[in-house]
Amino acid sequence: MQAVEPIMQLRGVRKAFANGTVALRGVDLSVSPGQVHGLLGANGAGKSTLIKILSGAYPATEGEILWRGSAVCWDTPKAANDMGVATVHQHIPLVPTLTVLENVFLEDDGLWRQAGSLRRRFEALCKRMGYWLDPDQMVSDLSIGQRQMVAIYQALGSGADLIVLDEPTASLALDERELVYAAVRRLSKVEGKAVLFVSHFLDEVMALTDRVTVLRDGVVVMTAETQNLNESLIAEAIVGKQVAALEHAPRRHGVRQVSGGVPRLSVKNLASPGKLLPLSLDVAPGEVVGLAGLLGSGRSEVLHAIYRADRDATGEVLIDGKPFGRSTGAAVAAGIGLVPEGRQIFPNLSTRENLIATAANRSGASDPWRFESVCELFPRLSERLGNMG
Ligand code: ADP
Ligand code: MG
Repeated sequence: MQAVEPIMQLRGVRKAFANGTVALRGVDLSVSPGQVHGLLGANGAGKSTLIKILSGAYPATEGEILWRGSAVCWDTPKAANDMGVATVHQHIPLVPTLTVLENVFLEDDGLWRQAGSLRRRFEALCKRMGYWLDPDQMVSDLSIGQRQMVAIYQALGSGADLIVLDEPTASLALDERELVYAAVRRLSKVEGKAVLFVSHFLDEVMALTDRVTVLRDGVVVMTAETQNLNESLIAEAIVGKQVAALEHAPRRHGVRQVSGGVPRLSVKNLASPGKLLPLSLDVAPGEVVGLAGLLGSGRSEVLHAIYRADRDATGEVLIDGKPFGRSTGAAVAAGIGLVPEGRQIFPNLSTRENLIATAANRSGASDPWRFESVCELFPRLSERLGNMG
């Protein structure tokens, strides 16, 4: 598989920041055309720093970058971009008050004079990727998944040969992630581009990448072909053997006795095919229970299943000892509130409307989530909101 000449190679890259933090300590990495290369590591391992170096945003303190076999020294993102490196950074720098078209060609000089040709280029991009966006829609009106596609189109607009994606799926819903996967597959397998893909999700790394490099504390601790790996090998490389052993220690689910009385929340054998193995836990009134695990280990899936957002989930969920219906509406009525990972707010609705959105389809009188009740719960919030919205 590695027979293809790499398009980019890093050799002994080291990065020390002015404050003394050494983020990278001699990193080697090689990325080839037609391949998706997964870059993994815990938070702070150095992934974003590495990407900023190979995309020209930061200089390396030591080491070299080879592009198509020759040493290069990029001192600006534009210099890297002009040679064919396109980067979608972790925090998407889109301008919400501009349209999709304006964002995609943000870097283009003379934007206003050549609107017609930009539109044609935009259409060609949509056609090429098989995904259509409305060029005149404001970016603020798009879903997070659509914004990610705008960022990808922005990167592709320049005709790059290496596409670097820094955690493009981190805050996407499952169906939105599929959008990004399709784009990545097309770029690498159909168009022969090299793709460097940073991710925290082990399942997507297994499904999408050809090679994997794992960073830990600024050092490459593993680089291998994905077909020779599995999720636990990757997880072990990310956290180190000792921590991995802790993670795999026999679990004691729901062993804690709730002192006196019924737990507020009781979860029994909650499971979901392909997502969750049976899990049980109790939460007593006044108790805060932490749910820990690596990204991708199923933490959010547990919450979704409790909240009845996962229709395939089986097992029991009880509030104050009582079961409730299998719908998110029933979960809300039973008194469960979910603050999801990808904050689902409606930017075009007022703060007030957002606060009571989950109660929108119910009558006001006995509603525990009336705006006034929310304000009672959070007096300081209500002070700041005044009579907003
Ligand atoms: P990752 O993307 O893998 O989470 P980063 O590359 O963002 O990791 O960070 C690696 C290390 O470098 C961390 O310890 C982080 O705090 C540090 N770091 C990142 N950027 C800077 C900076 N501009 N100045 C100082 N330290 C930084
Ligand atoms: Mg990062």
